[in-house]
Amino acid sequence: MNNSLLIVEDEPKLAKLLSNYLRQAGYEPECLENGLDVLPRVRDNLPALILLDLMLPGRDGVEICKEIRSFSAVPIIMVTARIEEIDRLLGLELGADDYICKPFSPREVVARVKAVLRRSAGQQPSGETPLLQMDEGRLLVWLRGQELELTVVEFKLLEFLAANPGRIYGRNQLMDHIYPDQRIVSDRTIDSHIKNLRKKLASLSPDTDIIHSVYGVGYKYDPQG
Ligand code: CA
Repeated sequence: MNNSLLIVEDEPKLAKLLSNYLRQAGYEPECLENGLDVLPRVRDNLPALILLDLMLPGRDGVEICKEIRSFSAVPIIMVTARIEEIDRLLGLELGADDYICKPFSPREVVARVKAVLRRSAGQQPSGETPLLQMDEGRLLVWLRGQELELTVVEFKLLEFLAANPGRIYGRNQLMDHIYPDQRIVSDRTIDSHIKNLRKKLASLSPDTDIIHSVYGVGYKYDPQG
């Protein structure tokens, strides 16, 4: 398993503190201080996750994040010194996986790193059998490697939900996605498709419950089960 973390932080004391905590948590951290060194390092050897400070000598975190995203989906946690920055960063849609504001407790950073890695492991299989694979052309999905055939509607629903793990979609949103021509269908139609989809998934792996209904609201995909 890839346990390497890249800490990009120009305050040496802070970098050392983070590095110590993350090492104790079982990761292999490496620190860089200068923004200009990040891209070559990442291209050379992709870490499992990057902790990226916003204000850096050489090159700022926003530019670095954008450029990494042009070639890699490696998890990135942006670190900023001002809480107000986070709204601006969110608006830029950089594709970062999380944002942490200074001052932070190193324990919190470790927890966030773990959470982001867990989340991305659900999406980007590495080595182990991936939780979910989908082949739209053949309407096939594989749940932990086991093959399952779905109907077009079931496939579209699963694909739509799985694109944003944890996000709750209302029945209307799901209907708009499945029936973009605004065909009049009862919202119970979605429920029955979801019910069939869950039944099929459960027939393969009863313990892996990846589609959850949220009472009174809708549905979500949760790779954690
Ligand atoms: Ca800084």
